[in-house]
Amino acid sequence: MLHEVRAEYDPDESPGQPDARVTRWHMVREMGTTAMCGRELDPKSAVLPADDWGRTREPFCHTCGALYLREVP
Ligand SMILES: [Zn+2]
Repeated sequence: MLHEVRAEYDPDESPGQPDARVTRWHMVREMGTTAMCGRELDPKSAVLPADDWGRTREPFCHTCGALYLREVP
């Protein structure tokens, strides 16, 4: 199954702007915009390859991490 990392922003940030500050990173399935933890993410939010999980400056969503590790061998 294909996964992607997607950004969550503060409510006063504009997703899609290069300088928008990322609050947390979530994992989504098959290029969707719903995180594995259930949070809806903006379609314009930044996307990273699943391989970048755990390698960014900003924190990752713990719920997404736990679910992701259960799905990926
Ligand atoms: Zn999450």
